[in-house]
Amino acid sequence: PRTVFSGIQPTGIPHLGNYLGALSNWVQLQSKAEPDDELIFSIVGYHALTLPQDPKALRSSRTDMLAVLLAIGLDPQRSIIFHQDENPHHTELAWILNCLCSVGRLRRMTTWKSRLATSRNVNEESEVDESLLNAGLFTYPVLQAADILLYKATHVPVGEDQKQHLELCRDLADIFNRTFKARNPLFPLPEHIFTPSKRILSLKDPSSKMSKSAPDAQSRILMTDTATQIKSKIKSAVTDSVPGITYDPISRPGTANLLDMFGACTNENPADIAKRYEGKGHGALKVDVADAVEELLKGPRAELERIRQEKGYLLNIAEDGASRARERSEATMREVKIRVGLA
Ligand code: ATP
Repeated sequence: PRTVFSGIQPTGIPHLGNYLGALSNWVQLQSKAEPDDELIFSIVGYHALTLPQDPKALRSSRTDMLAVLLAIGLDPQRSIIFHQDENPHHTELAWILNCLCSVGRLRRMTTWKSRLATSRNVNEESEVDESLLNAGLFTYPVLQAADILLYKATHVPVGEDQKQHLELCRDLADIFNRTFKARNPLFPLPEHIFTPSKRILSLKDPSSKMSKSAPDAQSRILMTDTATQIKSKIKSAVTDSVPGITYDPISRPGTANLLDMFGACTNENPADIAKRYEGKGHGALKVDVADAVEELLKGPRAELERIRQEKGYLLNIAEDGASRARERSEATMREVKIRVGLA
C-alpha cells in the first residue's frame, strides 16, 4: 500500500492554476486510490510564515483553504486533511533534519537562488542579499522533508518546480537511515508522482504563470469568481493579432493558454479544439472558454460558499484531522528521538 502526502500553503483563495495544476490532482488521486492506500493532505501554515503575513488574513486563509479542500471533493473520512501547524511533530522533526542538512546543500536549491536573485534586483547591492532574507525561507525545504517523512510517505505528487526539494527529502531520509542505523531503515525514500497538468499562464502576461502574487487581479481567475467575473477576465485576456485560431504555445502563448484552459476543463486535446476554431476569431473562442471554466468551477464554488458558512463543521473537521495526524506521526517521532539519543 502507498502513503501519499501533499501540502498546500494557506495563502488566499486558490486560482484556476492552483486548481488545475495541484488541487484537482489530489481529488483524482483520492478517487483512484486503492482501498489500503493512505492519503494525507496538509494545509501548511508554517510554510506560509516564510513570507510576511498579516495575522488576520492568514487566520482566515487557513479556514478558507480547508473549506476549498472539502468543496472540491476531498473526503475527510477517506483522507487525513489537517493543518500542519496543529501537529507539533512537523517542527520537531524539521529541527532534527536541519541538523543533518548542510548549508551548502540548501544554497544550491533553485528556489533559494531565485529568492536571492529577486532580492538582488530590489536592492542592487549583491553583498547584502542573504542578510535580508529570513532563515525560514532558507531552510523551508527541510521542513517540507519533515512533513513528508513524518508519515513515512511513499509517494508525493509535486510539480516540476518542487522536484529538487523532493530529491533533498530523499537524501535526508537516506542520511538519517545511515547515520542512525537500527535493525531496519526508519524512512522509506518517497517517490515523485507525476501528474500531467499544464501550467496555466497569466491572463495579462502570457510569458509568466498565473500567480496569486501578481499585482493585477485581472490576471487570474479565483475559485470564488462569479460567472460574470470569469467572462470579463477571459474577455480581456491578452492574446495576439494573428487571425484565426491555432495551437502554438511558443509563438502564440496567450491563445495557447486559452486552449489549454479549455482543454483542461473539458478533458480535450487543445490542438483538437484549435481545429474546431480554425476559421473563427478570439472573441468566439473566449466566449466558449469562459463557459467551460464556469462549468468547471460552478459546482466547487457553490459548495465552497456553503461550507464557508459552517464554522462549527469546519472546526470539527480541523480538530479531527489534526488528532488523526498527530496519532499517525507519534510512533515515528518517538522512534526518531530514540534513534538520535533524545529518548
Ligand atoms: P505564487 O504567488 O508564489 O506564484 P501560487 O499560488 O501562484 O503562488 P504556489 O503557491 O507556488 O502558486 O503553488 C501551489 C500549487 O499550485 C503548486 O503545486 C503549483 O505547482 C501549482 N500552481 C501554481 N500556479 C500554477 C499555474 N499557473 N498553473 C499550474 N499549476 C500551478
